[in-house]
Amino acid sequence: MPNKFRVFATCDIGDALNILRQRGYEVEVYPDPQAPPKNLILEKVRAGIDGLITTLRDPIDAEIFEAGKDRLKVVAQLAVGFDNINRADANRYKIPFTHTADVLTEATAEFAFLMMGALARRMWPAERLTRENQWGFWHPYLPFLGDEVTGKTVAVIGTGRIGLAFIKKCLGFDMNIRCYDPAYQNHEFVKNVQEIADLRHARGLSREKTSIRYVGFEEALREADFVSVHVPLLRPGESETPTLHLFNERTLKLMKPTAFLVNTSRGPVIKESALAQALRENWIAGAALDVYEKEPLPADSPLRDPAIADRCRLMPHFASAARITRLSPDPHKGMAGRCVQGLIDVLEANYGGDIAKMPYVVNKEAFKS
Ligand code: NAD
Repeated sequence: MPNKFRVFATCDIGDALNILRQRGYEVEVYPDPQAPPKNLILEKVRAGIDGLITTLRDPIDAEIFEAGKDRLKVVAQLAVGFDNINRADANRYKIPFTHTADVLTEATAEFAFLMMGALARRMWPAERLTRENQWGFWHPYLPFLGDEVTGKTVAVIGTGRIGLAFIKKCLGFDMNIRCYDPAYQNHEFVKNVQEIADLRHARGLSREKTSIRYVGFEEALREADFVSVHVPLLRPGESETPTLHLFNERTLKLMKPTAFLVNTSRGPVIKESALAQALRENWIAGAALDVYEKEPLPADSPLRDPAIADRCRLMPHFASAARITRLSPDPHKGMAGRCVQGLIDVLEANYGGDIAKMPYVVNKEAFKS
């Protein structure tokens, strides 16, 4: 007996949608590459759908849940971050929403690491020089030099899934690691990394002894040559330690003038006007960003200032954008597969229909008996 579920996807997530079609679901996909207007999502939800597939571009709040109160059973988000979904509203309407944690962890951590290297070694200005035929001579220090990553000190802000994966990359580059996370500290992981670092040194694989430890936020910023940010966007009221504008005039000034800031988390974690000033006035040496307060990055953003272009790398929210990570229909490999599986779990009442036991549901608290 085929399933009669109706699903609307706010964007195409590839072959994984065929898993739903093969199970008899009726699947409608918004055809444009841009996000649909909210009114269109409302219209689809009101017309009667059981599942809504969303991305971080779609604002999902009480208005959507109200429109779906007679039929909508699940919102399945293609992302690990869910700051576009109002959790309190979802809980009020008792609608579970899912996310795609874990499958994008390594891809995102790797991208943050590579951005860090590209920024510090000035790969973009160096390539531009070559392409624009401005490479007139080899010289020991002209027209500019970069900074090494190997052996430096990195502050990892947020030691959840991606922060810890990022630390594993840093271990291979013999970095000193300072961790900050007010809500979750994995001391066992840190102990294991220290053991491996010690072994690398003992076996002659790294020249200097290196260390990893948890420290306070200010100490992390003061000590670091690199700061990499791996926190969720948490607005005041959503957490005792909100992350909105965690990086602002005051905290950016705590960093060394030679330090670099890398952000692959969420744009509003950094106050962009303060960062642009920090770069213009050399409070810090550079920044590499994948995410912005407003996306896509507006044409008049101060981050586009040509005066800071050589020290400010700008990526298009791209850290998880790797082939398998984004599109594999396998829920253990791809965001698309995990998104679809999260939706199926709820609609087909897997786990004995106990939503609190479903691994990809975020707001389990609303369903605990
Ligand atoms: P996670 O929940 O496993 O880890 C987040 C960590 O941040 C947690 O350990 C939490 O305790 C910590 N934290 C919370 N408030 C903090 C604060 N004030 N200061 C320091 N740490 C704090 O999440 P994750 O899977 O590691 O993902 C992290 C975030 O990365 C996501 O929420 C998402 O917004 C972002 N992300 C971006 C991309 C991209 O393409 N650029 C891809 C994946 C994830």
